[in-house]
Amino acid sequence: MANRRSIIAGNWKMNKTGAEARALAEAFVKEVGAFSGCDIVLCPPFTALEAVRAAIAGAKNIALGAQNVHFEASGAYTGEISVGMLKDAGCAYVIIGHSERRQYFAECDSLVNKKAKAALAGGLKPIVCVGETLDVRDAGGTEKLVRAQIAGGLAGLTAEQMASVVVAYEPVWAIGTGRTATPAQAQEVHGWIRDELKKLFGPAVAGATRIQYGGSVKASNTAELCGQPDIDGALVGGASLEAKGFADIVRAGAKG
Ligand code: PEP
Repeated sequence: MANRRSIIAGNWKMNKTGAEARALAEAFVKEVGAFSGCDIVLCPPFTALEAVRAAIAGAKNIALGAQNVHFEASGAYTGEISVGMLKDAGCAYVIIGHSERRQYFAECDSLVNKKAKAALAGGLKPIVCVGETLDVRDAGGTEKLVRAQIAGGLAGLTAEQMASVVVAYEPVWAIGTGRTATPAQAQEVHGWIRDELKKLFGPAVAGATRIQYGGSVKASNTAELCGQPDIDGALVGGASLEAKGFADIVRAGAKG
């Protein structure tokens, strides 16, 4: 099996003020600040990036990430944040194409692609999210959709750039619902994603790319999900808002 290092990311979404975020990050650092079994990323809201940066400063396995970015470098884009601004705020990662961005802000694969390219050009590692709705799954369209999201979102990237890309498979019906994909369901889709990566970029890139699972991950289901051959960690929403529980997920999700 390929030797991919697990990566566990916490997506705090639109939760936590600066002070709350700092307290949560400090409590989390107490739990796993010295843990070296996997890569860890905390993705607070933009307004709490600085507070979390300060809290994780001494923990070299914990990186800072943002939840969104604009593809232009600067200019008249009211309310948007650029790659350079995120780098300046201490970010190493950025989540791109989360299903909530796709659902509420009409993000499509070509926009995801522009953002991924801008992130990579500016030295940020994109966590590119894909996943099907329940309607698509019930209609048997998961494989086709997810392959199209991968092909569209990662179009034109080089093999070298792919070394900095993380993919997150997040079935929309499992996000924030308490309804997790079974390990077998998740593994099946991760296998399709890896196969699509192979078609697009060849076997070496496909074998090296980390693919996280996301959707109602909690401490009790992490080990089994992350124990699947093509699952290389987790993108965690709700359960990342509590330090001890998220630390348990990190410990359970580390492999090899
Ligand atoms: C997410 O939003 O990326 C997510 C997986 O959320 P939750 O863990 O709450 O389902």
